[in-house]
Amino acid sequence: MDRKAKAVVCREWGQPVQVETITVEGPKRDEITVKIAACGVCHSDHSATTGKIPYPAPLVLGHEAAGVVIEVGEGVTAFKEGDHVVSSFISMCGKCRQCVRGRPVLCENARKAMFTLPDGTVRTKGADGEDLNVFGACGVMAEYATMHVDNCVKVDESVPMQNAALVGCAVMTGVGAVFNTAKVEPGSRTAVFGIGGVGLNAIQGCVAAGAEMIVAVDNNEKKLQMAREFGATHTININEVEDGARAVKKLTGGVDYAFECVGAGPVVEQAYKCLGRGGTAVVVGVSDPKDKTSITTLTLPADEKTLKGSWLGSARPQYDFPRILGLYRAGKLKLDELVTRTYHIDDAPQAFDDMLAGKNARGVIVFD
Ligand SMILES: [Zn+2]
Ligand SMILES: [Zn+2]
Repeated sequence: MDRKAKAVVCREWGQPVQVETITVEGPKRDEITVKIAACGVCHSDHSATTGKIPYPAPLVLGHEAAGVVIEVGEGVTAFKEGDHVVSSFISMCGKCRQCVRGRPVLCENARKAMFTLPDGTVRTKGADGEDLNVFGACGVMAEYATMHVDNCVKVDESVPMQNAALVGCAVMTGVGAVFNTAKVEPGSRTAVFGIGGVGLNAIQGCVAAGAEMIVAVDNNEKKLQMAREFGATHTININEVEDGARAVKKLTGGVDYAFECVGAGPVVEQAYKCLGRGGTAVVVGVSDPKDKTSITTLTLPADEKTLKGSWLGSARPQYDFPRILGLYRAGKLKLDELVTRTYHIDDAPQAFDDMLAGKNARGVIVFD
């Protein structure tokens, strides 16, 4: 059935987001409709309003949400009404070469579901009946969302929704970079560059992995304070040193793992430079497509350094989302502390402003 829903929409690149009442159609084959309970506000949502992530407008934002299944389409067996689910902005077909070799974030069919559902159509209509695209095949910054089952992960009902939501992007990206991409070993020396929602999660991933040293690097003292609260053993304010990489190296003797959570060539170079011999730098930040990085080639063989990327924390969402929430339930990951502030959907524009001002670890829109 069709449902009216308040939703946060980008009507035009470069304009502030607006809250509209849209129509969300019921599920077709292999789709489910979810009553959204909570949706995190992520920098990538903002990037989609500027064209940095070039999803065409009009676009329903949101890709980091949790909610309850209220209607299932034909052929759906993995979900039933009442299930709690978290959205995955990467569609995982489960059948292609990448999926079957355990790399679902690289799913060969995911590109069909960037701003529409996998079949190229949408279930979201504006006031004039026009199609509204959906961020990452999700569009979950709305009271209801109809998604393909390949974009949904069932999770434990005991986890509060506003915490579960964050696993869909920030937590998975940061913790997964540490667990899955880098495979940080106990006793490692680590550094994290850029302390936003993802950087904080890289820090707590390093804590959970048993790192000995965790150096947080940023230019914002408030964020470095948050980094210490999430387990950073040392902090470096980039404005107070001549060279961030050299400062990290002086402190640690060179790290085993560095995480770049900014998405900028010069910061990638810093993360690579502060490695010790045999170290690995992981690029987590999403840069401008034209951005470039330069490294000293000889250090790859002679120091056995590695420079690698991590997309959504190299997640296997159906396995990793429940696993990460299990670590939260066991008291080994901070999710309550990650939610700095919650907002009513009518205040979504304020939530975006607060994010851009660096006020929140994570701001989350919660629904009635
Ligand atoms: Zn995100
Ligand atoms: Zn696939």
